[in-house]
Amino acid sequence: SREWHLLSRPVGWPKPEDFALVEAPLPQPGEGQVLVRNEYLSVDPYMRGRMSSARSYVAPYELNKAMQGGAVGRVVVSDAEGVAVGDHVLHFGGWREYAAVDAGHAVKVDPEAAPLSTYLGVLGMTGLTAYAGLLRTASFKEGDVVFVSGAAGAVGSQVGQLARLKGASRVIGSAGSDEKVKLLLEEYGFDAAFNYKSGPVSEQLRAVAPDGIDVYFDNVGGDHLEAAIGSLNQGGRIAICGMISVYNNTEPAPGPRNLARLIQTRGRIEGFLVGDHYDLQPQFVREVGPWVRSGELKYRETVVEGVENTLEAFLGVLRGDNTGKMIVKL
Ligand code: NDP
Repeated sequence: SREWHLLSRPVGWPKPEDFALVEAPLPQPGEGQVLVRNEYLSVDPYMRGRMSSARSYVAPYELNKAMQGGAVGRVVVSDAEGVAVGDHVLHFGGWREYAAVDAGHAVKVDPEAAPLSTYLGVLGMTGLTAYAGLLRTASFKEGDVVFVSGAAGAVGSQVGQLARLKGASRVIGSAGSDEKVKLLLEEYGFDAAFNYKSGPVSEQLRAVAPDGIDVYFDNVGGDHLEAAIGSLNQGGRIAICGMISVYNNTEPAPGPRNLARLIQTRGRIEGFLVGDHYDLQPQFVREVGPWVRSGELKYRETVVEGVENTLEAFLGVLRGDNTGKMIVKL
């Protein structure tokens, strides 16, 4: 059974030499555990944080041990009540072909109800991130003008569409290519979108949001955050979901220079972690599941095949190779 190990903690952009795909004995499930043959692996930006030794909300990856991440697979051996061979489960033993996991930490998922990969994306962790961040952290309300960065990605594309479906007066997105911008406008129903690589973000945002913005959902940080503060309306809310533009920095990034604008706008900035919002999961699936099924909420996945390409898929997320959720199919 092959599994990915972290060999050394990357400095700046992760390099292939920092990792190895290792052949290991097939894990033996203990009491209360199941052996899962993984079918879909998730690669996510937050994993960059786990590659460093800095203390955070999840422990750093240990060197020379199997890395972890979200995965969906089929149970091939079960020593646990309530989980049968042939069941599919969502669990955290990703970055590998086979995982022995505690049945208590595995969630049964139904391949008939939705494609298995969606439990990692549009109906899974990234979907809940969009839902909780927009509705709870950013206190979205009907009529808001909403701006989201990383808008062609897994979280961002769902934030924009949720805002539209819930009655935003205007939905604006930014992304890193003209093709992605076209997708936002033509497929996801954004009212305006721009390519952040084509010019200063603040100017481009002002041009498409002449009356300002009420909500900014930040996936990117850096100049996007400063631009959003610059366009924030009275009582505006900024949800800090991620700051992918700084994840590979070796020096702390400079903060927004215009924070004082929050005083005059009575603006609010708040970070959040999806892990604190799983109480919303049932409501999220109840509300968003039907929109996904009806096609009112569209999603894309970029699927890379083969466990040996997991690292490339992860690096691809940092580079922006993906449109929608990046998935590895085994
Ligand atoms: P995405 O599917 O959005 O993939 C990441 C995207 O980031 C890339 O496709 C790329 O798109 C964009 N990107 C990369 N570098 C830059 C840059 N320098 N400036 C602007 N955009 C860049 O990933 P996710 O949807 O999984 O995650 C989105 C964000 O949400 C991340 O910041 C992540 O860390 C965060 N997150 C936070 C959670 C929480 O609990 N707070 C939970 C889940 C995710 P492009 O081509 O447009 O550049």
